[in-house]
Amino acid sequence: MNKPYVFTPGPTNVRENVRLARAIETTNPDLDKDFYDFYRETCNRIGEILNTEKDVFILSGEGILGLEAACASLTEVGDRVLIIDNGVFGEGFADFVKIYGGIPVLYSVDRKREVDVEHLREFLDKDSNFKYATVVHCDTPSGVLNDISKICPMLKEYGILTVVDSVAAMGGEPINVDEWDIDIALGGSQKAFSAPPGLTIVTVSDDADKAMRIRNTPIVGFYCNLTIWKGYYDKKWFPYTMPISDIYGFRVAIDNILEEGIENVHNRHKNIAVATRNALTSYGLKLYLDSGFSSTVTVVEPPTGIEANKLINYIRDNYNLLISGSFDYLENKVIRIGHMGENSRIDKILFVLNTLDKSLNELGYKSKVNIIEEFNKYIIL
Ligand SMILES: *Cc1c(COP(=O)(O)O)cnc(C)c1O
Repeated sequence: MNKPYVFTPGPTNVRENVRLARAIETTNPDLDKDFYDFYRETCNRIGEILNTEKDVFILSGEGILGLEAACASLTEVGDRVLIIDNGVFGEGFADFVKIYGGIPVLYSVDRKREVDVEHLREFLDKDSNFKYATVVHCDTPSGVLNDISKICPMLKEYGILTVVDSVAAMGGEPINVDEWDIDIALGGSQKAFSAPPGLTIVTVSDDADKAMRIRNTPIVGFYCNLTIWKGYYDKKWFPYTMPISDIYGFRVAIDNILEEGIENVHNRHKNIAVATRNALTSYGLKLYLDSGFSSTVTVVEPPTGIEANKLINYIRDNYNLLISGSFDYLENKVIRIGHMGENSRIDKILFVLNTLDKSLNELGYKSKVNIIEEFNKYIIL
């Protein structure tokens, strides 16, 4: 069977130059001094994309490692942590906080829209006694995009550190880590960066670094301890052997973004996302969200009478195309089209929309409009 076409909200398609870089002959990354330069340069280039001069680290492990490492490194027993929850990943941070003995306090709001910043301010006016807050940039199961450019500086005003899960946004959505006062920003190689899964990106601000150092009790764990990375370059010492081939590949994925231009990449994502949403709506489908649409994933309800999972399986079995369902409270209710990174290309999304239309026709849904014509009305060439 041929390899399926992958249009999930991560993992994404990986460009050939990234794949080839993973085949380059390797050295001993612990002993080869040149690799320390290569690693640091790669981190600096990621810093360019994220607009930060602070520490950037690439850890060996999938995106979840970053989420857990941030919570492990900041949480002490009894610490109150604000969990900003308008989605599955948002709420999920509470579990990590609990594992490390913290007290998660949930700020749970409407899951069909972005966090209302003024409403959050009213909440903070009553209670702002938190060591840190967690917020998700793009909460992938619904695709909701939170305005971290306002949320993080506001939390800082109240003296609260911020941990931002930007795994599904970073690389596809603008992020200004320093200007927006983000203490820890987290990313993953397999989403909008379009490298294979396996690497976590972590930025650490001076305030976050200090908070991790002035703890009364030691950080529990080693792999999730972010302080072990400090000074790796001067010491020429990595906490563990770096997955050198993964990093060779990831470096090329980063360079692909820088070569295209960060702003061009963001605009490309926005252009595709807007045209995709409009095409699907004109076609007669209902977007799951009311507002707060991300440019990396579109989440849409299937037509009445067609189950989401049935549609997804049909498309996979008949057209070898992988789109996602969702999970938790959205299980079997929506389909998700990932248009992040290398998947955010006009030719690719036209193929997805055409296949979706064909499959829906075969399952008995007929639209009055042509989905491709609708897409073409909105896409800017
Ligand atoms: C993908 C993703 C992660 C990483 O989690 P996996 O489910 O293991 O891929 C974390 N946060 C968000 C918002 C993500 O989309």
